[in-house]
Parts: sequence; structure tokens; C-alpha cells
Amino acid sequence: MVHTSMWLCVACSIFMVAVFWEGGLPVLRSGDDYLASLRDGRQVYVGGQIVEDVTCHPGFAGAARTVARLFDVTASDPSLRYIEPETGEQTNVNFLRPRSGDDLATRRRLHVAWAGVSNGLFGRSPDHVAAMVTGMACRPEVTGSERFSENLVNYWRYIRDNDLYLSFAVLPPAGSKSGKSTGVQNAMRVVGTDRDGVTVRGFKMLATGGPLCDEILVGNAQPLRPSDVAVAVSFAIPANHPGVRILARKPYAAHAVSRIDDPLADFDEADSAIYFDNVQIPWERVFVLDDPQASYGLFVETPAHTLGNAQAHIRLLVKMRFILAAAKRLGDALDFTGNPAVQGVFGGLAARVKMLEAAVVAQEAHPESWPNGYVSQDRQFMYATSNWSMEYFPEFANEMRKLLASHAFQQPADVSAFEDDYTKSLFLELNRTEDFESAMGRYRLIRLMWDLVGSELASRNNQYELFYAGPPHVTRTRVWDYFDWRAAEAPVQEFLTRTGPASSPDGVAPARALGGGDAILGDRT
Ligand SMILES: Cc1cc2nc3c(=O)[nH]c(=O)nc-3n(C[C@H](O)[C@H](O)[C@H](O)COP(=O)(O)OP(=O)(O)OC[C@H]3O[C@@H](n4cnc5c(N)ncnc54)[C@H](O)[C@@H]3O)c2cc1C
Repeated sequence: MVHTSMWLCVACSIFMVAVFWEGGLPVLRSGDDYLASLRDGRQVYVGGQIVEDVTCHPGFAGAARTVARLFDVTASDPSLRYIEPETGEQTNVNFLRPRSGDDLATRRRLHVAWAGVSNGLFGRSPDHVAAMVTGMACRPEVTGSERFSENLVNYWRYIRDNDLYLSFAVLPPAGSKSGKSTGVQNAMRVVGTDRDGVTVRGFKMLATGGPLCDEILVGNAQPLRPSDVAVAVSFAIPANHPGVRILARKPYAAHAVSRIDDPLADFDEADSAIYFDNVQIPWERVFVLDDPQASYGLFVETPAHTLGNAQAHIRLLVKMRFILAAAKRLGDALDFTGNPAVQGVFGGLAARVKMLEAAVVAQEAHPESWPNGYVSQDRQFMYATSNWSMEYFPEFANEMRKLLASHAFQQPADVSAFEDDYTKSLFLELNRTEDFESAMGRYRLIRLMWDLVGSELASRNNQYELFYAGPPHVTRTRVWDYFDWRAAEAPVQEFLTRTGPASSPDGVAPARALGGGDAILGDRT
């Protein structure tokens, strides 16, 4: 037995070497490389406790293994790499600066492959923030200075060549947005500069994956006022940088009873407040300083937001399809999908999934051109998709809860019921079978559905879908900004001209078109 496992281990190592090394050179970072790098002295807090090693902590170990699997997926699949022109090296397509629709399709393949690992439940997988920095590096001049542009591109090169996982904290804490002063300044701000760098102090929200990432990107993804100069700073630092405190929310995974009772615990991705305790940021890591417009502009005046949200939408599609299929399997098992009324409900939900798929296809169908020869998905469709998903996902999840009705609560408290002969026999009777395996199959489906739409983790995930791209009113404003009003209004103007005096009514402003132009049925105007 010992011998067998030893040989298995050796065979496994040979396989891993074959997969991750080609021609004597390391191809891409492996999951093991990633896990080892997490033991770096980072300051992660859960309540008042400091976490010694996130790879062993019950709240984070499963999520860390999930991220490790993502790296193994890219390392073992050549279609998820590209040859980076600057280096000639095989590189994770996560860092591909897209110049064509084909490049966008290549990027999509990575998002689909990585979302598949968690069935879309790991929102801020490493392809989210890396996509944003890659987008920023397509138009670095938005930083407003040659020196900062160079810093940004060099930073993109660094994370690209080391295949790093970034989280980001781009939101001020509660209370500081209104600008009303209480005398206590809690939002992270610049408190000093010297020849070595910039010193910052205060809170920045809300780094999903903070305890698990290699680096944290810090900036402002929401508009700032011209007077917000002290907080208008953008930079990136390692998660273990001196003075960086990662304050994790309650890790639900730490309270998991078993893999059967809490089947999604490995995807609990650890949202965290970040506290900067007089942290010095070296100059080469600073991308914007004292410039509110540029700090926000890095997200919206470059392809950053578009490339990052493309990941979010593709991941959500994978997740909605998974939830739909799990509900269908449960409906079959509990015998309610035979009912035509229930089939109608499923039909409506399946239509939602297809609508999202159509939106993802539409974003990519007409790549939007950016300066410097780069492209992104179409912003009109992208912002419309963000808005649609924020508004409709909660309804989708609620419909799922209705389908689940009381079934999660008809089950035993947890798997310990199967260790006792009497409670096990009651469980079999409840399921009208003597076949334990088939009763367990049903139990597992019910637990899965509850973890998808009902549990504390599901509730957090619901909140994520509401706020992943910022608050709804900001997303709606972006749709207003990028919708091609000019093209939409043209037929109205044409009608008015044809049927009466040609001049516009007084006070009607000319329509704006910030995005990629109208793309109705493929025709651009
Ligand atoms: C699960 C989860 C993960 C997240 N991950 C990240 C991350 O990785 N990185 C990151 O930087 N951020 C992250 N966020 C933060 C997210 O960007 C914010 O939740 C979002 O921007 C809203 O900010 P807030 O939570 O401070 O709410 P607030 O801005 O305080 O808003 C509270 C409520 O008031 C409404 N509201 C506020 N102002 C207005 C207004 N002017 N008009 C109308 N309604 C208004 C909001 O819509 C909301 O309903 C995450 C959030 C969640 C829930």
C-alpha cells in the first residue's frame, strides 16, 4: 500500500513536470507555486485574531485551493496562453492586450475555463483585476504623466511575467463619500511624500480575495470631486507590504460542517477591508497622484472597466446556467418538473440565461476601438449587461428559492444523521426508498441548491451580483452616458422633420455618443 502511494506520487510528479515545464523552461505558474507564495507574513485578521497561514486556516484554505486550481488549468492548457510579443514567452492570456476580435475571443476562453472551476461562484477570480490592469496598460497616458505611465506599463509587465493574482480596493469607507467632516478622516489618503515614495493612511474598501491575492490594486473606480485631491492616488502593492492590514469579513467556510452540507465552501472568496497603517508606497508603484480625474479615468478612460466586466458577465452566465441546471435536476428528483406550470417557470428562467448569453455575444461582436490600436468589448452592451444583471439576478435567485420551497428544511440537520441507524432509517423513509445512495443524491442536490440561493454564503453571493460593478445608480448613469442617443433620436428627428417644421424644440440638448456607436442588428451609424 505504502509502495503504491509512493509510486503514484512519483508518477504524479513526473506528470506535473511534463505539464508545467516545456523544453527545460517553466511555462506558467502552477497551483503549488501560488500556494507556497501565500506563506509570506501577510497581516490577515479575522476579528481580533491574526491568521498565521491562510493556506491552513479553515476560512481560507478551500478558496486558496480553488485559486491554485485556476493556475493549474492555465498551466496545463496551451489554448489559454499566448506568446507575448515583448518577451517571446508563453504567457497567461489574462495579460493579453487585445488588438482584434480574435484576441477578445481568446480572452473569453480563459474567463469561461476559470469560471468553470467554481461554476461561476468565484467572482473576483484572478482574471478580473488583471484584466483591468491590462486594460489600463492599453492606454497608460491617462495617468497624465510620462513617469506614471511608465510605472503603470512596467507594473503590467511585472504581473504579466510573474502571472500574479490581484485583488482591488477602489472604494472609500462608509460616511466618507458625502464629504461631510466629523473631524475623523478614515478614508485612505496621502499623508506625506518624500524621495522614496508616497505615504498613505486609512481604510480602503473592499478587497474581495484580499487574504488570497499576491498584490492589491488601490485607486478610485467611482467619480471623485475636484476637491478630493488627497484621496486621488492610485498604486499597487504586495499583500504582505509593511503596514498593510487585511481585515476579512466572517469567513463562512470556517463554519462549514462537511463538504456535503456546505458544498460551495471552497468558493468563499473572503471580502476584506484594507487598512493602511502609514504605508509607504515606492514611487515606481504609483500610477496617479493628486489627480481625481486621472485616478477615476484609469478605469473608464481605458479599456480596464470593459475587460474586467467582460469577465464578470461571462462568469455570471456560467453561474446562472449552473443554478438553472441544478434546479432542473432537483425538480426531476422531487417530481415537480412534470407539471406544465413549473415547466413554464423553468422556461422563463432559461430565457434569462439565454438573454445573458446573447448580451455576452453582442459585447464581443462589434469590438470597440481604443487609441494605440487596442480594442475592447462594446461599452454600450457592456454597461447594459451590468445593469441588467444587477436588476435581474436577484429575481432569478428568488424564483429559485420559490422552487426550492421548504425542501431544505425537511432534511436532517447535517450528515451526522446518517451515522445513527435510527435517524438513517427515518431519512430513508422520508425519501421513500431503501437505497441510501439515491436518497443521498437527493440530499446533496438539496444542499447544493440551498448553498446556491439560500445559505449565508448564497446571500453574500447575491449581494455580490448587486454590487460587483459598483452601486446600481452609478451603473445606470453609465448606461445613460454610453447609450447612443444620437442614433436612437435620429428617426424621431426625421419623423418630426417629415411631418412639420424642421427645427428642434427649444432646450433640447444635442444627443451624446460616448461609446462605440449604435450596433442595432450589426449596423453602425
Ligand atoms: C460582496 C461584495 C464584494 C465586493 N468586492 C469589491 C472589490 O473586490 N473591490 C472593491 O473595491 N469593492 C468591492 N465591493 C464594493 C462595491 O463596489 C460597493 O458595495 C458599491 O460600490 C457600493 O458602495 P457601498 O457598499 O459603500 O454602499 P453605499 O455607497 O454606502 O450605498 C448604500 C446604498 O445607498 C444607495 N445610494 C448611495 N448613494 C446613492 C445615490 N446618490 N443615489 C441613489 N442611491 C444611492 C446605494 O445604491 C446603496 O443601495 C464589493 C461589494 C460587495 C457587496
